[in-house]
Formats: sequence, C-alpha cells, structure tokens
Amino acid sequence: RGAKHVLFVSNWPVSSGIARCFAVSTLLIRNIRTLVSCDDHNTVYENVDLYAEDGFIRAIGKNLPQQADKVIDARHMLCYPGLVNTHHHLYQIFSRNLPEVQNMELFDWLRALYEIWKNLDEDVIRLSTLTGLGELMKHGCTTCFDHHYVFPAGAGDLIGAQFAAADEIGARMYASRGSMDLSKKDGGLPPDSVVQTVDEILSDSARIIERYHDKSFGAMHRVALAPCSPFSVSADLLRESAVLARQYGVRLHTHLCETKDEEAFMLAREGVRPLEYMENLGWTGDDVWFAHGIHFNDEELRVLAKTRTGVAHCPISNMKLSSGIARIPEMLSLGVPVGLAVDGSASNDGSSLMEELRVSYLLHRLNSSKAAPSGYELLKMATRGSAAILGRSDDIGSLAVGKCCDLFLIDSRRLELVGACFDSKSVLATVGVRGAVDYTVVQGRVTVEQGHLVTVDEESLAREAEEKCRAYLNR
Ligand code: ZN
Repeated sequence: RGAKHVLFVSNWPVSSGIARCFAVSTLLIRNIRTLVSCDDHNTVYENVDLYAEDGFIRAIGKNLPQQADKVIDARHMLCYPGLVNTHHHLYQIFSRNLPEVQNMELFDWLRALYEIWKNLDEDVIRLSTLTGLGELMKHGCTTCFDHHYVFPAGAGDLIGAQFAAADEIGARMYASRGSMDLSKKDGGLPPDSVVQTVDEILSDSARIIERYHDKSFGAMHRVALAPCSPFSVSADLLRESAVLARQYGVRLHTHLCETKDEEAFMLAREGVRPLEYMENLGWTGDDVWFAHGIHFNDEELRVLAKTRTGVAHCPISNMKLSSGIARIPEMLSLGVPVGLAVDGSASNDGSSLMEELRVSYLLHRLNSSKAAPSGYELLKMATRGSAAILGRSDDIGSLAVGKCCDLFLIDSRRLELVGACFDSKSVLATVGVRGAVDYTVVQGRVTVEQGHLVTVDEESLAREAEEKCRAYLNR
C-alpha cells in the first residue's frame, strides 16, 4: 500500500514537504477582475486567468484553455501575491492580552512573561503555531517566519512540532533555531531554566538545519539561525552562530534597536551602539535581517544600505510597547531592504499582516504625508520586500510565470469595499480589509475558501487550543 501511495504522488518533489501530497495538482483561477502582480514591472492585469501546476504558476493570460483539478471563478475578485511575514513568535499566541503586563515596556514585560514561557512544551508549540498560521492565512499571508528562541530543558522537538503544524495547515514555514545563553545570573533577563550553553545551542542548530532546512526552489520549509537579542546572548554565541550559518548557507536574524533601553544597555556594557557591536561580530550582510530597527542613526542607515542588511518592520508591536517609529521612509529612499511583520502575539495581540499594512500606512503619515510610503509601496514591502529579506526573491513575493502559486483573493463586491476599488494597488493599505479574505492559496493548494480554513477544522482547533492555553497559563 505504501508503494502505491508514493506512485500516486510521484509528480511532487519529495523534498518540498508532506503538505504538497494533499494539494490539487492543477489550479485554474478564471476571469480575475484585477490581478496586482507586484512583479518587476508593476504589472496590473484586468480580466485574466491564472493557471498553476505542481504548485507553480505556469500561465497568466486571457482565456487560458486548460481544465484543472480545481477551478475558481474570480470575476469579481482582486488577486494579490501572498503576504510574507518576516518576524513572529507564534508561541506568544498563548500569552496575549494579559492584564498584568498590558502597561509594561519591553524589559519589564519580558521579565514578567518569561515566568510563563518557561513552561512551554511541544503541544503549546503545535497548537499556537496552528492558531497563528490560521489567522495569518485568513488575512492573506502565505509564508511565515517564526523567531523561536525559548527552549526549556526537556521540552521536546519544538521546531519539528512547528514544521508538522505548518504542513497540517498548509502554510509555507520559515522557522528558526533561536537561542539565549545569558540568564538573570549573567545580567540577562530570562530565568536559568530557558538558557543553554553555546555548545548545546550550536550542536542543536546544526541538527535542525540538517534535518529541516530545504534550500530547493519553492521549499515549504526553511531554517534561519536567530539568537534572541544582543542583551540576552553572549558575544561568543553571536559570533559562532554567524560562522555556523555561513557554513550551511542559512540566514541570520535577531532583534536590534528596538528600544532606547537596549541602546543604553549596549553602551554601558560594550561601549558601542548596537549596530556597531553586531557589525564587529559579523552580523551585517545580505544574509542578515533585524527585527524592528527603530533607533538607527543616519550613519547606521547608510551601513545597512551599503551592506544590504535587512529590517523587519513591526509597526503595531512598536506602538503597543511604546518603542518608537522605525525610520522606514529614510530606509526606503536609501535602499535598505525592508519587509513587514506582525511580531509576536504578546506584543501585538493579533496575527494579521493585513492589519499591519494599514497601520503602517497611517503611522508614517504622522511624521510626514510627503515622505510616508504609499499604499502600493507598503503592499510591495509586505510581499516582494519581505520575500527579499528572507532570501526568496526568486520564488515568492510576486505573481509571475515560474513563481510559486501563493496568492489571495478578495471579493470586490463586499460592503466595506463599495466605491473603493478604483486603485486596487493601494486599497489594502489605504482603505484596509478587516474581515477574512475569500481565498488563500499556498503552493497551488487552497487553504482558505469563503473566508474559512479548509485544511483544518477551525472550530475544533480553536476549542483544543483554548483548552491547552488555559492549562498552560494555569487559569
Ligand atoms: Zn520579536
């Protein structure tokens, strides 16, 4: 029986994950009202068909003749490339909206929450990943990078649990082997039980890369190395992580320049500002991206641009924790690679990259309506910009022949969009879409249909996750 099953799915590349085995092999989206491709030429198509095979786009054009296993009538639909989330902490879904931490800023907030996070296990990771990816996909996101850095002793294979959950729900997953090696006794913030030695971290990092990182075109699973932040890890760990990442050809990620507290901490401990510290440890380059990047000075922005070091912009989290406003207009004009992100659910309280698009659009207008990015620039930041900082400009982030079929569709006839779709390129950021999208497609597989997840039973997932969350928080 096993052999027959393998024959049945033999046209799917084995390396690309279990999820594909369940995908329809061909998909035709007919008569799309407007397709905003975000391609190299900013092409916007009207009344076109899109045809995908084996998860890849094979044709975009008028009256495509193919039949397909799955056909979607999109005559009233707006079609966009799947949104790409460049920074999350999915496990934090189970520690959001907690009254006792709502008014804290970053350092106090972290100290309080580590007391909860030290109890996480494989089930917390599985269910929070399913919940978070589900919410992201219902709002048009198709690829999620997760920065997981809490590895309590004996908690199991947390990254394996994440990839299994992503396969189950059908999302493209970019996981990370995060790390912390400085606990309270070393002047860091976390308790002793969630930090590890540099040797433990590096050997597990190598294991996870070898086991899960798939460098192939269209990969559903990739891995980055992501020590938590310069104030929770040692210089040795940062330096050695960069060496290991480059040996394996994987990317590097951490939090940087999120708060003025961090800047003061680094100046006091190291005598240099955060970016200079990271640069000295090998942490700049086109294989590195930082979350937040709020408090860079002019010279540091030029260093980022020159070295092609990326920034994951997390507007809602930055507002919630009163961290500041990232200098996104300056970054864009200097050519710093920038992507969009939701950040962890404990500092966002939600997981909608679609909401982030509109909030970001409005936030930068507070400073200057002339310099602020346009609605379309923000859409491109959340798609091709995000794909670029994940090192995936080749296969995701825009809709073109040969690329992965990752997209979402929104019915232009919904009440909230009446009179608003004359400029489809900017409407997601300027007007905003608050309800679920109508369809989400990841690697040619429909994962959201008529606003609901179709890969998992949404109601029973929500029930099971709520029960686990209550047990974990012990309330
Ligand atoms: Zn974060």
